[in-house]
Amino acid sequence: MSVAFLSLGSNMGDRLSLIQQAVSMLGNDNNIQIAATSSFYETEPYGKKDQPWFVNAVIAIRTELSPIELLRACQSVEAKLGRDRKKEEHWGKRPIDIDILFYDDLIFSNEILTIPHKEVHKRAFALVPMLEIKSSYIHPVLKKDILELHEALEDPEDVFLYGTISGSNVI
Ligand code: ADP
Ligand code: MG
Repeated sequence: MSVAFLSLGSNMGDRLSLIQQAVSMLGNDNNIQIAATSSFYETEPYGKKDQPWFVNAVIAIRTELSPIELLRACQSVEAKLGRDRKKEEHWGKRPIDIDILFYDDLIFSNEILTIPHKEVHKRAFALVPMLEIKSSYIHPVLKKDILELHEALEDPEDVFLYGTISGSNVI
């Protein structure tokens, strides 16, 4: 059994409901158990600024799925919630984005998947919710924990607490 951390984000439609639906759909997958959920945060768009603010959360899951199988499971939930990548701009508006931040202490990269997520250490919208769930997690490449990575952010985008998901927020 592996532990993975997933980042969920939405900036189209009913953002909160889309994230809650994504969490519950992931939890309904027989091969995925939700182990912890962060609060929800409202966050300033990263990169491309002229678009609506996001709602973001991070969850920890336990799974027997391989990293690639987990990516497919995340993309299947994204598609069911109306995401169509062909119609999107890079870093643009989307109903739901599910990224794999970490998978155990794995370091892996191919054409479709990079773990740890290659931007995680630069993104306050991923690090702040991660702080709630497991601030002591050590980035296997950078060898720094989440707290240190968060403190090292230069000019982070705004991240405001938006609401709490009921359930455990620590793993
Ligand atoms: P964003 O970079 O904003 O998350 P997308 O969700 O469209 O953009 O992802 C683009 C591609 O990133 C996906 O098709 C996927 O194959 C790839 N990818 C690479 N590493 C990861 C990861 N750790 N988690 C999710 N997707 C990843
Ligand atoms: Mg993505």
